[in-house]
Amino acid sequence: MAGSFKTEAVVLRSIRYGEADRVLHLYSADRGRIGAMAKGVRRTRSRMGGRLEPLSRVRLVLRQGRGDLSTVSGVDTVSAHPGRRASLERASQACESVLRLLDSGEPNAAAYHLLCNQLALLDADPEAATRAQSLAFRLKLLLASGFAPELGSCATCGEADHFAGFSPSAGGVVCASCEAGSFPLGAEAHGFLVSALGQPLSDAPQASDVALGQADRAIGETLEHHAHVRLRRVA
Ligand SMILES: [Zn+2]
Repeated sequence: MAGSFKTEAVVLRSIRYGEADRVLHLYSADRGRIGAMAKGVRRTRSRMGGRLEPLSRVRLVLRQGRGDLSTVSGVDTVSAHPGRRASLERASQACESVLRLLDSGEPNAAAYHLLCNQLALLDADPEAATRAQSLAFRLKLLLASGFAPELGSCATCGEADHFAGFSPSAGGVVCASCEAGSFPLGAEAHGFLVSALGQPLSDAPQASDVALGQADRAIGETLEHHAHVRLRRVA
C-alpha cells in the first residue's frame, strides 16, 4: 500500500488520546524515533491494544500520516513486556533513558539492540535488575549515542595516570592539574565504569553504593553537559 511501511520497534510510552485511541512513542530498529497513533485500541474488543503495551517489542505496519504521527495498521508481538515487578521498573527506566536521549528519526541500530537486549535480560532474570546493571545499561547507551565519557586518560590534557576526579564539562576523568570543576570519582567507581563499558550487559559488574553513586553522577552530568538531557538518577 502506498505510504505504508514496516518496521520493528519497542513501545517506549503510550498516552491516552481521545475516546479510544493512544499516541505511541516508538523506538524503531531502522527509523529511530517514531510517533504513531493507534486508533480504537482502548476498546475492549481491540486485539491490537494488548500488543502495544509499553516495553513491548513489536513488528508494525504503519501508514505515513500527513503530520508527525503515523497510524498503526498492523502489529505482531516479538516479545511482550517484562511481567515481574522488579524487572518492570528497571525496564521502564531503560525506556525512559532512550525516550530522553534518542529523539530523532536517525536510525541507531546499536542503541536499538542494546535496548532490546536489556528488556530481554530483565525479563529472563529479575535478579539481574540491580542498580549496577541499570547503570551499565545507561553507560552503554551513552556509548551508542556518542556521549561515552573519557575514562582512559585525562579528558583535558591526556595525562594517563593520577586521576583526581571526574569533570562533566571535560567529558571524563581528569588529572590533578586539570581538576577544576570536577567531583571525586574513586578508584572503585572508575573501575566500575571501565568494566561496565567493556563487559557484556549480562555480565555487568557490581560495586558499593558509594561507587555506584559516583558513577551515576558521572553518567548523569556528562549527559546534562553534552546532550542537554537530564535523567532521573538510578536508585
Ligand atoms: Zn589533565
